[in-house]
Amino acid sequence: MKDEIEIIDTIRKRFNTYPPSVVSQIGDDTAVVRHDNRYLLYTTDFMVEDVHFNLAFETPYQIGFRLVSSNVSDIFAMGGEPEFMLLNIALRKDLDFSFLDELMDGIEECLKRYKLSLIGGDISESKNNIFLGATLIGYSINPILRNGAMAGDRIYVTGTTGDSGAGLELLKRIKKPLNIRLNEINLTTEDYEMLKRFSADMDSVLYLLKRHLLPEPRPLHNILKDINSMMDISDGLSIDLWKLCKESGVGALIYEDKIPVSDALKEVSSATGLDALSLALTGGEDFELIFTTSKQIDTSLISEIKITEIGIIIEKDFYIEKMDGKKKSLTPQGYVHLRKHDG
Ligand code: ADP
Ligand code: MG
Repeated sequence: MKDEIEIIDTIRKRFNTYPPSVVSQIGDDTAVVRHDNRYLLYTTDFMVEDVHFNLAFETPYQIGFRLVSSNVSDIFAMGGEPEFMLLNIALRKDLDFSFLDELMDGIEECLKRYKLSLIGGDISESKNNIFLGATLIGYSINPILRNGAMAGDRIYVTGTTGDSGAGLELLKRIKKPLNIRLNEINLTTEDYEMLKRFSADMDSVLYLLKRHLLPEPRPLHNILKDINSMMDISDGLSIDLWKLCKESGVGALIYEDKIPVSDALKEVSSATGLDALSLALTGGEDFELIFTTSKQIDTSLISEIKITEIGIIIEKDFYIEKMDGKKKSLTPQGYVHLRKHDG
C-alpha cells in the first residue's frame, strides 16, 4: 500500500478540475471556496479507535473534545473563524450509552469553547473499531495558504512543541484514563502518587497530559496581513514544515537552539528520560501554528501568544543547524498514516 502522503498525491492528480470559485483544494489545511465577499473554509478529520485514540487511557469526554479542537486548528491554520460542525459516528452495538453521553460532554464543551454550532452528521454501526469524524465549516476574509512561503521569509512557530507527544508518552505509561476536564481535574490520591513518578512538579505533569488530551488551538488574527504562508502542527514540527515548504516550492533552514521547548517538557523529560528536543521536532498533535513572513512581527499585537522565530525559508532543501553550529540535512519526521516505518 502507498502511505498517506502518496495517496493524497494520487487523489490530487486524479481529481484536478474545479470551478473558478475554488481557490484552494486538496493540499491545504482546509479547502477554500470564494462566496460573495468572503471565503468559506471546509475541513474534515477522522479519529479511529486504537489509531487516534485509545479507550485504555483516555475518557470519551477527552476524545470528543479533541475531535472538535483538532478541526478548529485547521480553520485557524487558514486564518479563519470556525462556525458550523457536522458529526459522524460509527459505534459498536455492545458499547454502553454512557460512552456516547460522555463523548457528547466533550464535544459540547469544545463547541462552546469556540462558539460553534453542531448542524448535522451521520451515524452508523461499526463491527470493530469506533470511528469519529468531524467536518468544520468556517470563513475567512483573507485566507492564508500553505503555498505562499518565499525564500528569505522568517519562519515562526507559536507556543511550544513536543508537549502533546510527551503527554502521550506519559499516558502510555499510566495505562488508565484520568478524569481531567477542561476546567476540572478529579484525580484520586493513587492517581497523584502514580503521576509523581514522572516528576515532583505536578503542574508540569498535568500540563503535558492536558496538552495531549485537551488541545486548545489559538488563532493569530491580529497579524494575518503580514503572513505569507501558514499551517498547523498536527503531525510534527519537522514534517509539517516540510509539507508547507513542499506546497510553496521552497526549502528551509531551522536552528536547533531556537526550537521552543516548554519548561514543563524540560522538567519531565529530564526526570523520565524522554528526549525533549526529538519530541519538539517530531511529536504530533501540538496544534500550534507555523507561519512565514517577510516582515518582523510586532509581538505586542499578539501578546497573549508566545511566538518564536526558528529559521529561514531558503530556495530548496531542508537543513537544521545543530547546537554546535554544524549544518545538517534534516529528515522530516512525524506521524504518517499507512507508512511502514518512520523516516
Ligand atoms: P491536516 O493534517 O491539515 O488535517 P491532512 O494531512 O489530513 O491535513 O490532509 C492534507 C490534505 O489532503 C488536505 O487538504 C486534505 O483535504 C486532503 N485530503 C486528505 N485525505 C483526502 C481524501 N481522502 N480525499 C481528498 N482529499 C484528501
Ligand atoms: Mg492541518
